[in-house]
Amino acid sequence: MNNGHAVTDGMTIAELSKRHAGQLLHAAGATSRVDQVFGADVFGERVMQQRLPKDVFKRLQRTMNHAEPLDPESADVIAAAMKDWAIEHGATHYTHWFQPLTGLTAEKHDAFLSPDGHGGAITEFSGSSLVQGEPDASSFPSGGIRATFEARGYTAWDCTSPVFLNRNGGTVTLCIPTVFVSWTGEALDHKTPLLRSMDAISEQAMRILKIFGTDAGVSGVVCTAGPEQEYFLIDREHYFKRPDLMACDRTLFGAKPPKGQQLEDHYFGSIPSRVLAFMQEAERELYRLGVPVKTRHNEVAPCQFELAPIFEMANIACDHQMLVMETLKRVAPRHGLQCILHEKPFAGINGSGKHLNWSIATNTGVNLLDPRDETHTNMQFLVFLCAVIRAVHLNGDMLRASVASANNDHRLGANEAPPAIMSIFLGDMLTDIVEQLEAGKPKKTIKGGKLDLGARTLPALPRHTGDRNRTSPFAFTGNKFEFRAVGSSQSVAWPATVLNTIVAESLDYLAGQLEKAVGSGRPVDAKKLQSAVGALLQKTIKEHKKVIFNGDGYDKAWHDEAEKKRGLPNLRSSVEAFGVIGSRKAVDMFKKYGVFTKVETESREHILVEKYIKQVLIESETAVLMSRTQMLPAALRQQAELAEVVAASEAADVDVGDLRGALEEFVDLANRFRRGIDSLERAADADVGHDVHKHARHLKSKVVPAMADLRELADQLEQRIAADHWPVPTYREMLTIK
Ligand code: ADP
Ligand code: MG
Repeated sequence: MNNGHAVTDGMTIAELSKRHAGQLLHAAGATSRVDQVFGADVFGERVMQQRLPKDVFKRLQRTMNHAEPLDPESADVIAAAMKDWAIEHGATHYTHWFQPLTGLTAEKHDAFLSPDGHGGAITEFSGSSLVQGEPDASSFPSGGIRATFEARGYTAWDCTSPVFLNRNGGTVTLCIPTVFVSWTGEALDHKTPLLRSMDAISEQAMRILKIFGTDAGVSGVVCTAGPEQEYFLIDREHYFKRPDLMACDRTLFGAKPPKGQQLEDHYFGSIPSRVLAFMQEAERELYRLGVPVKTRHNEVAPCQFELAPIFEMANIACDHQMLVMETLKRVAPRHGLQCILHEKPFAGINGSGKHLNWSIATNTGVNLLDPRDETHTNMQFLVFLCAVIRAVHLNGDMLRASVASANNDHRLGANEAPPAIMSIFLGDMLTDIVEQLEAGKPKKTIKGGKLDLGARTLPALPRHTGDRNRTSPFAFTGNKFEFRAVGSSQSVAWPATVLNTIVAESLDYLAGQLEKAVGSGRPVDAKKLQSAVGALLQKTIKEHKKVIFNGDGYDKAWHDEAEKKRGLPNLRSSVEAFGVIGSRKAVDMFKKYGVFTKVETESREHILVEKYIKQVLIESETAVLMSRTQMLPAALRQQAELAEVVAASEAADVDVGDLRGALEEFVDLANRFRRGIDSLERAADADVGHDVHKHARHLKSKVVPAMADLRELADQLEQRIAADHWPVPTYREMLTIK
């Protein structure tokens, strides 16, 4: 939704973010001196201005804006200022902070303190320690790029993302956001490709601006991202009693509670005070880190919540998103809570996603996906819009693959999450314009008008030009797209990288066609431009409108139509989707736009498949362990008790009624459960050779279903076994926060 954060002309994204964050802190009454909290732990522009000599500050800004390398002397000066600032704030160590392909963040701390050679110590932090690091790369996933004996890896400072202080367990560490590459220069992280894909978009989008003559004063185009985070909170006490939650971040067992989300009484409900206290503390920590968090509310499922920040430049938003996940996890225990980020921690109720709000804007602050009032005359917007439509139509499979994981398999395509078919929701106004474009020259823009609420005391609300659609995986929402299929626990860097790359490809194509049609003279004659754009967009819409769908994405009829009539891919499971990453099309596209080399692309695919395998195996082992050591013993106890009652009653010559039948039924269930454990174990242990794809397919077709079967039986047992015998907290207990 456009909640008033539209990028307005003449203001940079960074300025805008800062302004909003300032306002929101005032509004929250958090402090009267906003900047004492917001960004207090960030070595940002304000601190730099205070602490750096003017010429060094200017030089650093040039590096940040134009990617000029930083000279070693300036780096030394900056490092010294950073060290002093950090030490004054209690820091003892510094670390290069990066995002390896584990999907988490990594840090290795070094103390500022060094022996001075005379029995004392000095604090030290040089420019070269700031700019470059050399962690051992051998124990991070590389997808075959690096063998263990080829261990060298480098981290390099991404000076566009602010350095910050991490406070944890009473320690303070200076964290320097970096990229992480191998000795041979291949990216071993999520950030390098993201930055490369942003460059690709910038280069291609600038060509479009040049054609329209709107590039004056613009030196680049940036991607913006605002990732909303859904999460669950449960009592930590319960968490520690559930080996499945502890090992897998999701429950592998658990019967449906009598009250789940049927009454729809949780969504936007009043937030429990204990949770509110947690949220407030997490937000305060995030403000300090300069993360502009803005919105908090209850989500649909019991114990499910959401946090949304104000959007920022995509690379910063991705860094901040990692900090959001870490902060939520870190702060929750202080309130006796456990934060669960898994995509589907509890069966039968909604899972969690991470809606990636995404747009592109000039570095002077113009949102290129803002339709403005008279949209039909805004041809430049329509070119960018059609670029996205074309990109998603041609590469929906790549987008699907960018959100593939064992976790997301439990959510995507289930009934409360977007389907695995990638379609675009445009809404009434844009759909109407797109139809006009297809028919010829667009003539009008549908207006929302006013909504009369029928009571004199209520204001007439300005109505949006279209309703919202919650069932679409990729929706246009006012002045940005919202990619809703992203999983709640994954880094947004990878889906953003894929999205940027496919849109860059479409912009390249459209720019190429337009350049051909209008020739090289600038400025382009308005009439000529109008007719060239009209013809190109008409053709583009004709070819790609199949991907536009404004209806109910959950509807079975849509799935049939999408696959059979429209030929849209429906990669139901991640195992089907992984292969897309290594496909010829993807490899070529990533290579063409300088995002990944072939080796890098293949390594990503390999890592994702390996991770899938490891996760499913951890889950199946945990399921076997819990079944055998907790649930089966509980069942046997129950069985013994029942048998005892039957025997005693019969011995006393009392009519046991159908108790004997109940005992027999129970014994049968317990036996089936025992056999279920064996089947799961056999399936998980089967030798399927060394091919990872084959292994993943086996897990998906044999092990995942065996786990589901076992769960089904365990859940039946849970509903028949005395509560005081059941070994783990139930859904009913876990999904209530007292
Ligand atoms: P909803 O839940 O209704 O979709 P939210 O307010 O929770 O809306 O989240 C919308 C998100 O979209 C916010 O993080 C917001 O900052 C972000 N956003 C708004 N404009 C843009 C933009 N131009 N680019 C990227 N993200 C944006
Ligand atoms: Mg949203």
